[in-house]
Amino acid sequence: MAFEGLTERLQKAMTNLRRKGKVSESDLRDTMREIRLALLEADVNFTVVKDFVKTVRERALGAKVLEGLNPAQQIVKIVNEELTKTMGETAVPLNKSAKIPTVIMMAGLQGAGKTTTVGKLALKLKNEQDARPLMIAADVYRPAAIQQLQQVGQQIEVPVFEMGTDVDPVEIVRQGMAQAEANHNDYVFIDTAGRLQIDEQLMTELANIKDLVHPDEILLVIDAMTGQNAVNTAEGFDQKLDVTGVVLTKLDGDTRGGAALSIRAVTGKPIKFVGQGEKMTDLDVFHPDRMADRILG
Ligand code: GDP
Repeated sequence: MAFEGLTERLQKAMTNLRRKGKVSESDLRDTMREIRLALLEADVNFTVVKDFVKTVRERALGAKVLEGLNPAQQIVKIVNEELTKTMGETAVPLNKSAKIPTVIMMAGLQGAGKTTTVGKLALKLKNEQDARPLMIAADVYRPAAIQQLQQVGQQIEVPVFEMGTDVDPVEIVRQGMAQAEANHNDYVFIDTAGRLQIDEQLMTELANIKDLVHPDEILLVIDAMTGQNAVNTAEGFDQKLDVTGVVLTKLDGDTRGGAALSIRAVTGKPIKFVGQGEKMTDLDVFHPDRMADRILG
């Protein structure tokens, strides 16, 4: 379950505060210290934690909540609002092109969940908008990657364009796009290669694909379980590719929650979807307010 530790610690901090009735400035300081430690333990980015704690404290003092009724309740409300803000305030929908096809390029490290997420998203669009997507297999480095996308395609009944592993990925994408246009597909997903770490050659290849198709959406797929590494990876990809959004996968296995709470604030890029399981239906729109409620328990 996501955020286990954080939820427990925040609830404890809030319970301690509620017990007080009247809250002094030093009580507030203690609470903020507990919140700070809880966030750091959840692997939230240090600067994000610092800014968060400062804002909550300033808001609490500025609104004179300590002198009003139910100070603890007011502080919980401020914490909830600031958590929501840190994660981006509102859900951000997928970009959509004025004329078909809308092109969605996926990027991310190997194993982050790109191929799975392509399938999940294609299925979502099919189910919700009656979309007719095409998925392009542009990872030529692992033969298994193409097979995996084909299996996903069969499972969700969405066609896959592939040219094996001997063709340059940019050429595969060029021909895949031609097929999508001929077949009037309304969405094209480009499943790209990943590496264990960010490397120059891969980034150049991704940049070349980007220059060719000018995607409407470049979704960075990030494994939530990798915590602050996920945030560093997001920054690295974003610097090279200027991504338009993030999909945070494996939130179902992420007990800490640091990536979810840091990525938006560090990169400025919205988390658009979260993966919460291995099934094709385990993908949800990311709602910062609902996530904040969940974190506070
Ligand atoms: P890629 O190398 O980036 O294309 O990653 P894959 O799509 O092959 O995913 C790697 C592994 O992560 C697979 O075993 C997926 O089933 C698993 N996976 C992907 N997304 C999620 C998720 O949201 N939750 C869980 N639990 N597993 C996921």
